[in-house]
Amino acid sequence: MTQRHVFGPVLSRRLGLSLGIDLIPYKTCSYDCVYCECGRTTVQTVTRREFFPVEDVMTELRAVLAPRPELDSITLAGSGEPTLSLSLGRVIGFLKDEFPDYTVSVLTNGSLLTVPAVREELVLADRVIPTLTTTSQETFERIHRPHPGLEVGAIIGGMERFRTEYSGQLWLEVFVIPGLNTSAAELAGLKDAIERIDPDRVQLNTLDRPSAEGWVRAAPDAELERIGALLGRPGAGVVRREPPAARVPAAPAEAGERVRATLCRRPSTISDLVLTTGMSGGEVAKVLGVLERAGLVTSERRRRGVFYTCRPDDDAAGGGA
Ligand code: SF4
Repeated sequence: MTQRHVFGPVLSRRLGLSLGIDLIPYKTCSYDCVYCECGRTTVQTVTRREFFPVEDVMTELRAVLAPRPELDSITLAGSGEPTLSLSLGRVIGFLKDEFPDYTVSVLTNGSLLTVPAVREELVLADRVIPTLTTTSQETFERIHRPHPGLEVGAIIGGMERFRTEYSGQLWLEVFVIPGLNTSAAELAGLKDAIERIDPDRVQLNTLDRPSAEGWVRAAPDAELERIGALLGRPGAGVVRREPPAARVPAAPAEAGERVRATLCRRPSTISDLVLTTGMSGGEVAKVLGVLERAGLVTSERRRRGVFYTCRPDDDAAGGGA
């Protein structure tokens, strides 16, 4: 069965062995972040829709989860902002009803946490991970190039409200971009907002893959450590660039499809693909050669190595929040 909505599992730096669910067509989002690893947003919206029949997603999930694979998380993420999907709550509810042993996580930019229905649907998840980069509207607009009308103050208010309604794990991702949100004033604003949101965990993250804008730089580890200490929050941790120790699934039967599905959501080096797919370096290189010759993936040398990226087409999903 061709999988359009379920991908991986991939070995996530934040979540361990994670099976992804993509409810959004490439690349639909309320933001157009300068650091987005999926490239520029092509459909910017704040209007929720059922982009795909929810039954199709459930059918794929039943097929993939029937053998009860070992997973650390089933994660709603992918080609844009998952809370834009009106299927969000139904998919989470389906997983909790039929596969209650799995931990369900949602990666979100947080922009729709102002919407009561979105908060109600997210309450069903075990772990919700919104992103915050700034409390300044000017910086917010520079970093996220948001849909007109989105205001960072209201979004932070939505996060605070959600905290009062949600008893699951609320992890806040603070994405650090040197020169944009690392001044003393920016960090003081973030510290204050974090106190108000009161997440269970703060994760400092920075650029690790090719981004929408080539001028975006990663923060050095020392800078992340300094900011973590300054935020002074118990549990504030840096998302390490190295993936966790490899605990990989068996090699897939359809290696090409699996590698491509991963690349459509996450640009990766060969080393990344070895860890996320469980294939050997030689196997990955062979598959990439075939896909590249067929024009299905492209490669680009970056600081961390050669990154392979899916070429989106009408049938392929892409990106990753
Ligand atoms: S990083 Fe996430 S929130 Fe930002 S544009 Fe990309 S998909 Fe949207």
